[in-house]
Amino acid sequence: MNSDPHCIFCRIVAGQIPSRKIYEDDELLVFHDIAPWAPVHFLIIPKQHLATLYDAGEEHTAMLGRMLALAPRLARDQGVANGFRVLINTGPDGHQEVPHMHMHVMGGPRPWLRG
Ligand code: 5GP
Ligand code: ZN
Repeated sequence: MNSDPHCIFCRIVAGQIPSRKIYEDDELLVFHDIAPWAPVHFLIIPKQHLATLYDAGEEHTAMLGRMLALAPRLARDQGVANGFRVLINTGPDGHQEVPHMHMHVMGGPRPWLRG
């Protein structure tokens, strides 16, 4: 599997950096964001290193669909039943800070810190 030893999220996938995991399968890992904007804020990431959404191609379509389909299911599991946001920051102008593609899922009662 494509992995970058210097990438924070690859290191989380490898278990070298601890995270509060919510879900895991062969392809995806989901864990709570370390600095949540909302009462519930988790990240859905591919286990393989893919730097940004720009790097996703036709071969990643199924995986991207699975990420999106997982969001409402896991949101409900986390007690979020009144709506949520999904966000994929991409590149410098998208304010992407961690260069390993990830989907934010944010929900829970308002007000939120951001978003
Ligand atoms: P970005 O700005 O790249 O879309 O979002 C990166 C997110 O990753 C931020 O919300 C940040 O709080 C989160 N994050 C960065 N480093 C870690 C970490 O080591 N562990 C966890 N759980 N989240 C992290
Ligand atoms: Zn990575």
